Amino acid sequence: MDRQVCVAEAKISGLHYINGVRVDSSEAFEVFSPIDGQILGEVALGTHADVGAAVAAAADAFASWAALGAHGRLPYLERFADEILARTDALAAAESADAGVLLSRLRHGLVPRAALNVRWFAQAALTLQDRVIETKQARHLVRHDPAGVCAIITPWNSPLMLSTWKAGPALAAGNTVVIKPPEWAPLSCSLLADAAHAAALPPGVFNIVQGTGAVTGAALVSDPRLSRISFTGSVPTARSVATAAAANLVPCSLELGGKSPFIVLEDADLDAAAATGALMYRNATQVCLAGTRFLVHASVREAFIDRMRAIVDKLTIGDPRDEATEVGPIIHPRQLEKVAGYVDRAKSAGARVLWGGGRHAYGDLYYQPTMLTDVAPDAEIVQEEVFGPVLVLQTFADDAEAIRLANDTDYGLGGVCYGEEAHATRIAEAVRTGFIWINSFGIRDLEAPFGGRGQSGVGREGGEWSFDFFSDVKDVVIPKQPFTASFSHR
Ligand code: NAD
Repeated sequence: MDRQVCVAEAKISGLHYINGVRVDSSEAFEVFSPIDGQILGEVALGTHADVGAAVAAAADAFASWAALGAHGRLPYLERFADEILARTDALAAAESADAGVLLSRLRHGLVPRAALNVRWFAQAALTLQDRVIETKQARHLVRHDPAGVCAIITPWNSPLMLSTWKAGPALAAGNTVVIKPPEWAPLSCSLLADAAHAAALPPGVFNIVQGTGAVTGAALVSDPRLSRISFTGSVPTARSVATAAAANLVPCSLELGGKSPFIVLEDADLDAAAATGALMYRNATQVCLAGTRFLVHASVREAFIDRMRAIVDKLTIGDPRDEATEVGPIIHPRQLEKVAGYVDRAKSAGARVLWGGGRHAYGDLYYQPTMLTDVAPDAEIVQEEVFGPVLVLQTFADDAEAIRLANDTDYGLGGVCYGEEAHATRIAEAVRTGFIWINSFGIRDLEAPFGGRGQSGVGREGGEWSFDFFSDVKDVVIPKQPFTASFSHR
């Protein structure tokens, strides 16, 4: 059956992409748009057999892809990046339709970034992968050998960007990949397969198997032929993934949720802090690295709240395809119920609503940008990730209290700190987290490490960290003096 999903002008295949061809399944699932609840079409649901075929294709393609070397792979991956860019309008339309991401942000930010994820790692592999360590007694040629078949599993909040963030370095390092896109937003990844096909990536190098986590994802992560699993998603799923990986001793990288602090010191530029604070509502705060716990010095509390409220009051909430829209919908009715439940329980427990606090009149899946305060440090709303437009605000009296509150969750993904630069940097150094932005937000260079500590993840990706993860690191040791075998050598 030729399943096809039409979004705007784009025609998107609902089939898997395995061994260089489109493949159907005996089962399928519906994809709908959070913008208006409209059913967009049906997509094949990967069975155990489909996953097995994709992993087998990737395993067969591995040796010759690896043998090309970084220079040999570069032209393929450069073409892949070009083909992604050539599909900018279709990719943007697809992900805006099924994930509700702002169309303008996709066109101008996320799709170009997806292409860069592929191009940058392909070029970096020429130089970053191999290093030489000189010691007194030896020269160590540190080689990054391709590892094998990599499983890539991504969540619905940014599937295109996250799939390429993992597939880019995995392919550049000489591996073959099987991607399982999120079931609530699979369409942009299907177009990614078209781009890989047009770039003439050899069959089996790049595979996509769509489906649910419980069926398709679980089958993929338990396949013993995998060499790596790179997963981005929630903590409970990460536990299942890590358990399956442990059975076969497959290394996994886990990029998980967060409850990151947004610290406003007494010497902060409050206008700048409030403007960045309002940015936390981008993508309806369905963003893992958003600062969602506002920690504000007591002396500037009212001034900060007034400034941020003034900006939030003017945010345009609505259809993510409109240029003017700043906050779009929540992905799914189940997610909206989850968000509303957190707010209702927080209010019952005594939280005060500074703004928002309920559904938005624009449509069924829209929720008001919300700020809650008067919350206990151990309250559910302070400790748990909501993954919707709901922030909490607490105050602190001095640096020590700011640091204590910032570190008072099981998470440790990101953070933001506004204040005089040296002061903010001192605070940042004491916050236990994977990364923290000083007087800024969201700067992500591909050279830099990315990942979380505690419940926010295991491992780092980005730059050389991606190559370390997606490779078998090998040390070729060449002695500097002639080596004489002797049992008395230590
Ligand atoms: P999720 O854990 O429900 O799903 C993520 C992916 O895992 C999906 O593709 C899903 O189908 C798959 N999956 C589910 N069960 C599986 C199983 N048993 N085996 C294998 N795969 C399975 O997460 P979500 O709701 O899609 O995404 C939201 C979460 O992702 C949030 O917690 C968010 O913070 C996190 N996230 C983290 C980052 C990061 O870089 N740290 C980035 C984006 C999102």
